[in-house]
Amino acid sequence: MKIIRKISEVKKIQSNKEIALIPTMGAIHSGHLSLIEKAKENGSFNIVSIFVNPIQFANKDEYKNYPSNINSDIEILKKLKVDAIFVPQIKEMYPKGFSTNINIGPIGNVLEGKFRPGHFSGVATIITKLFSIIRPDHAYFGQKDAQQCMVIKKLNNELNLGVKIFITPTIRDNNGIAISSRNKNLNESQLKAAESLFKSLCLGKKLFDKGIKNSKYIKNEMEKLILKSEVAKIDYISIANFNNLEEIDEITPPTLISLAAWFGETRLIDNILLK
Ligand code: AMP
Repeated sequence: MKIIRKISEVKKIQSNKEIALIPTMGAIHSGHLSLIEKAKENGSFNIVSIFVNPIQFANKDEYKNYPSNINSDIEILKKLKVDAIFVPQIKEMYPKGFSTNINIGPIGNVLEGKFRPGHFSGVATIITKLFSIIRPDHAYFGQKDAQQCMVIKKLNNELNLGVKIFITPTIRDNNGIAISSRNKNLNESQLKAAESLFKSLCLGKKLFDKGIKNSKYIKNEMEKLILKSEVAKIDYISIANFNNLEEIDEITPPTLISLAAWFGETRLIDNILLK
């Protein structure tokens, strides 16, 4: 496995296979592994990038506390026989004086974008940079970050970046909690309480499957379930059109039910798609 730290070294990669990029912020877990497995199935030359992108964190503490374990990440990725990893330093990606910022428009200002101002501009900027540096044929992202997937697809289309985007399903633990690097920061009772997120999403889907279309009613039922635990603090529960993320009163699929909630100092997100 090649370990690439400099942008100039990326150009030296020689492969007659198509190139696949799997962007991550490290602290590799089974969610990341599912993206890598999918890329491997497609038989490409696989590059995993590991970069905790400072400009996508509105909150400095959240950035500082973001889990990182580069040595163990490298060992895991070596065992998986990933072809190369790209692990640039911050000054390599954002040299002094860097000021470009990609504004993705309204879709970046709702939901996660509303609670994390500037987040999607940071995401769009780093993904554009990674696509420009690596020039991948394919790139892999997880449905767990549904809004991020939409932002990246839009960016890729509107700036004609020409990358084939693959979205893979959310990997969950045995209790339904979406695997996330942030789960490491939860204590036992918070972890237990966090089970309510996926349960509430399933409840939302169940109510819809029973024929209930009223978003307000469904959101209320979901909220009641989550707030049974006193540990949880909800940022939002959204029922939105899957194409533009506009909130809808009456569900007509495709609809995205998504939510964000705090458990202590840890903020988790999750979603389910109604087709
Ligand atoms: P991150 O390191 O959190 O930026 O995630 C890197 C990529 O892995 C993103 O495309 C995420 O959507 C994806 N990902 C993170 N957690 C999961 C999960 N539980 N299931 C599937 N994909 C995931």
